[in-house]
Amino acid sequence: MEGNYKRETDRERPLLDLNVRPDPETVSEISEIMAERYSFLSLTSIGESVMGKRIHMLSLGNGNAGKSVLYVGAHHGAEWITTLVLLRLVNEMCEYIKASKQPFGINLQMLLATRCIHIVPQLNPDGCDIQINGVRDEHILYERLQRMSGGDYSRWQANARGVDLNHNYNGGFLEYKRLEGENGIFPGPTRYSGEYPLSEPETAALAGFIRYENRLQGIITLHSAGEEIYYSSGGIVPDRSRSIGEKMAQLTGYRLSAPEGLSAYGGLTDWYIREFSRPSFTIECGTGENPIPETAYFPIYARLREMLMTFPMLL
Ligand SMILES: [Zn+2]
Repeated sequence: MEGNYKRETDRERPLLDLNVRPDPETVSEISEIMAERYSFLSLTSIGESVMGKRIHMLSLGNGNAGKSVLYVGAHHGAEWITTLVLLRLVNEMCEYIKASKQPFGINLQMLLATRCIHIVPQLNPDGCDIQINGVRDEHILYERLQRMSGGDYSRWQANARGVDLNHNYNGGFLEYKRLEGENGIFPGPTRYSGEYPLSEPETAALAGFIRYENRLQGIITLHSAGEEIYYSSGGIVPDRSRSIGEKMAQLTGYRLSAPEGLSAYGGLTDWYIREFSRPSFTIECGTGENPIPETAYFPIYARLREMLMTFPMLL
């Protein structure tokens, strides 16, 4: 499907102009432009959303490498700024590789000969679509979405069924269910965890990939906002997570924190740490209210890029 990504001349720039609101069609277009342009970049799909939209994955590096890492953006609809950060990362790394340059002294060719970086820029395409484009009455879930949102989609975070994907993983799910009851949380724009862990196609697709990719050594999940890095779950700290987190904090100037309250349950980081005992980090990017405007993506990216390029070597 045709998205709204810019004119022909914009598509030809080495670094794409990403001052756009990345609805799913736009993300598809940008991903396809990059996959066509860089022979060493592969574009696949880990699955589909509730509304049948593709969940793209861009992979860089040796497919047979001994180690891989995974970066995930936009679990939450109103946090699509994280999609732009990851698309820019892919674009820039590819340009450095093409020009045989070494950003921050990192030899990307060497790095990617032994490692693979998988990037899912937008896990929740439906939520981003709802937040960016709103919902028209031909939408198959129109009435339900109107009921859940009261017609206001400006802060929509959940998927198209009103499930908050970052509470739908099997990491402290039952504890969260109890808190959910106490806090009167129902299907809607934010915070509802779903009927059971991985009940949603988006989380099931990602968890399936993570289980299948047995070379995976660590995960970074981007959210917004707060300039914080979370490195533990429910008091569990995988080996070396603290020291890796300290290095990440030093490279970004973000604060290293342990999650508290409702945010400590059911997230991707919570599940991965509890099930695999490997490093996983939730990074709250940028400052301000969601959605952070697209024009702010670059300063956020500029703070994170050295860390994002260095992370595969920290594991
Ligand atoms: Zn979030």
